[in-house]
Amino acid sequence: MKTLEKYSIGVGDRFAHQAKPQLRACLLAAEAGADIVPVWNKSNREHTIIGSEPASVRSAADAAVRQLNWTRPYHVDADHINLETVDRYIAPSDFFTIDVAAFIGKSSDASEISGFLKNHAELSSPSAHAIAAKYHAAVKEAGRIYRRIESSKGAGNFIAEVSMDETDAPQTPPELTIILAMIADEKIPIQTVAPKFTGRFNKGVDYVGHLPQFAAEFEEDIGAIACAVDRYGLPKNLKLSVHSGSDKFSIYPAINRVLKKTGAGVHLKTAGTTWLEELIGLAEAGGDGLALAKQVYGEAYAHREELCAPYTAVIDIEAAKLSSPSTVAAWSSNDFTSALRHDPNCPAFNPSFRQLLHVGFKIAAKMGDRYLRMLEQCEPTISKNVTGNIFARHIRPVFL
Ligand SMILES: [Zn+2]
Repeated sequence: MKTLEKYSIGVGDRFAHQAKPQLRACLLAAEAGADIVPVWNKSNREHTIIGSEPASVRSAADAAVRQLNWTRPYHVDADHINLETVDRYIAPSDFFTIDVAAFIGKSSDASEISGFLKNHAELSSPSAHAIAAKYHAAVKEAGRIYRRIESSKGAGNFIAEVSMDETDAPQTPPELTIILAMIADEKIPIQTVAPKFTGRFNKGVDYVGHLPQFAAEFEEDIGAIACAVDRYGLPKNLKLSVHSGSDKFSIYPAINRVLKKTGAGVHLKTAGTTWLEELIGLAEAGGDGLALAKQVYGEAYAHREELCAPYTAVIDIEAAKLSSPSTVAAWSSNDFTSALRHDPNCPAFNPSFRQLLHVGFKIAAKMGDRYLRMLEQCEPTISKNVTGNIFARHIRPVFL
């Protein structure tokens, strides 16, 4: 059976140019004593916005692995797919994030729900029926998607994750327990599960929420998983998948502490953070690179409503805090990178500027070859920032 390792990091690479510097961060982790396996993820939403094909993620990952002589496992994640979108991912991917958040709360077969509860006396509680009813349709849908993939790839040849993170209401640890029991009954051998954790996980910026509550629930979720593995025979390596929405620095120390205390593994999924490092690397290069980064911002500013629309649930941009493109036009490399780089202690850091650029990759996609050529031209400064960001800001605080 294809088995996901204990520690893994999901890295997103919108324009398929950063697999090598991302992999280099995993090599640095190995040197520092942590075995972390890379998983290249790109969501269906990103592929659609950019106009790319899932196979391009596989080729970029394979090439990086060859070039850097990476001998440990690595995976390619069909991120946030559903029954309508999964087909073109089946051949190039070996990891599938089955997103059923849209099915939470949909009505489902009442007799199946009561049958489930009758078979699981151990779950009985005053709220068990309401929880089972809330998630039943979602788990049934996950089963349909899982079997669609299994019928093409064969059982045991891929890693399955079920994600319910893209929704407003978090799933509490007692809810996770019932969800896992239903997933086991549905015979989906998930190796990772991505609940919506308490607090806000906005794109590109830090966590907003109650840290002690996050830490307590994260640990209870790990307990719920261990219990479900024992009771229901889910895969022994089943672990939480944290969809970070890029950079959730303030929860990383809590995750690190709980992992050390419990011995649990984790999958930390990042994505857009790398695209922002590309922009930082372009700006840091100065000259044409800086000019292009400014142009991306100018266009993103002009089209901000359209760019933000698909992400309204996960961004909080303060319009008044957005620098005007004419101001940005006069910026030095350092002005641009300090506004964009996610250093919460830097007075020049501008979260609104960063979030707008986070969702602004469509602008770069529209630039086509001109953008890609500039990535190649500014490769040294971009690589340095991509590797440094993944290693120092993500891997080190979570895993080391
Ligand atoms: Zn997600």
